[in-house]
Amino acid sequence: MEKDFSSLGISEELISALKKQGVTKPTDVQQSAIGVILEKKDAIVRAETGSGKTLTYLLPIFMNIDLSLRSAQCIVLTPTHELAVQVYKQAELLAENSGMDIRSALIIGNAGMARQIEKLKEKPQIIIGSAGRIIDLIEKKKIPAHTVKTIVVDEADRMLDHMNVDMVKSVVKTTLKNSRQTVFLSASMNAEAVAAAKEIAVNEPVFCMAEEKLPELITHYYIECELRDKINLIRKIVRGEKAPKTIVFINNPENIEVTVKKLNYHSLKAVGLYGGTRRDERRKAINDMIHGKAEILVASDLVSRGLDIPGVTHIINMDIPENSTSYLHRAGRTGRGGKSGKVISLATKGEIRYINRLKRELKLNFKNVYMREGALVPVNADFKRKKTYTHKNNDTVYTKKQK
Ligand code: AMP
Repeated sequence: MEKDFSSLGISEELISALKKQGVTKPTDVQQSAIGVILEKKDAIVRAETGSGKTLTYLLPIFMNIDLSLRSAQCIVLTPTHELAVQVYKQAELLAENSGMDIRSALIIGNAGMARQIEKLKEKPQIIIGSAGRIIDLIEKKKIPAHTVKTIVVDEADRMLDHMNVDMVKSVVKTTLKNSRQTVFLSASMNAEAVAAAKEIAVNEPVFCMAEEKLPELITHYYIECELRDKINLIRKIVRGEKAPKTIVFINNPENIEVTVKKLNYHSLKAVGLYGGTRRDERRKAINDMIHGKAEILVASDLVSRGLDIPGVTHIINMDIPENSTSYLHRAGRTGRGGKSGKVISLATKGEIRYINRLKRELKLNFKNVYMREGALVPVNADFKRKKTYTHKNNDTVYTKKQK
């Protein structure tokens, strides 16, 4: 049975705050997990990307915060600064719109520690950020860990991989075992991540599993093309489809810069999201996309997770992702919040086998198309069998196969 926010146990003040941001009906994952988190149970929540994961935990956390206590009560750990900023903004919005006196602090590495320490003097109840910096400030006694009751691990499959799991464990260990709740959320939880989550949680975690699938309003296409034509195809797709916001994904982060330059050369307003670059540069690239100063963001998988840029209409896989999890994460950057979106993969002959694997593993219906006069046109299977493609005036042209 469908539940509304009220029957899930969410208060009137939070429901009216949600209305102000256009949220009126809980999504599937919110229906299945809010009650469990509200009851302070340990939980593993698998939620499709863009399905309202952040509010799934922020709402019960807001409900469970003891307003009479001005000290840290919840820690949210995220793998990227961008995701931390998004969660922080959502928490601030919820506090402002509900009038609840709940403060949050953004505690991330590579940012001024002195300012963060100043912010902590306001005694925020929610600490959001990266495990390393949070540990640092707990050790410096700037964050009181003994009053923390809930630890949320967002993008848990990444946070619990061999690179990060020890850091997460260190944060959890600083809190009191008897009174803590741990909540793990991710679009994809592999066996290793589930095992680590179970080890960290004090009690057997409740599984709240939404199916690992993408929003139905996303359509999946692929275009067979030559490697050298990919940039020009991107130009044709963006112009032909009049796409206001596109994310172009490539496999090797080292190619981001050259791709941005090539797209700029084609008079496209492209920016790059470089994993290793300075945080303010990354923030600027994201803001340029959000505010429409840029129409294309070039990124790699390193930074695709959790990225919430409203209104992304097109995802273009300039390289085919190496596995289905990364396809899901990339595709999930569009079709968010009930909007439609297109994912277009540009595959060379050699990459077609990866498309076939994705079809099999994800059970997705990929439409084989080509660009003709600025439109995505289906390649008729019959037509394709008889003919082969060549290139003329930058258009892919299907001609009869040479005998
Ligand atoms: P998330 O999965 O947390 O990144 O959320 C994706 C987007 O969906 C965000 O822009 C949220 O504001 C929005 N959203 C979250 N919950 C709901 C809901 N119940 N109804 C409509 N939109 C929502």
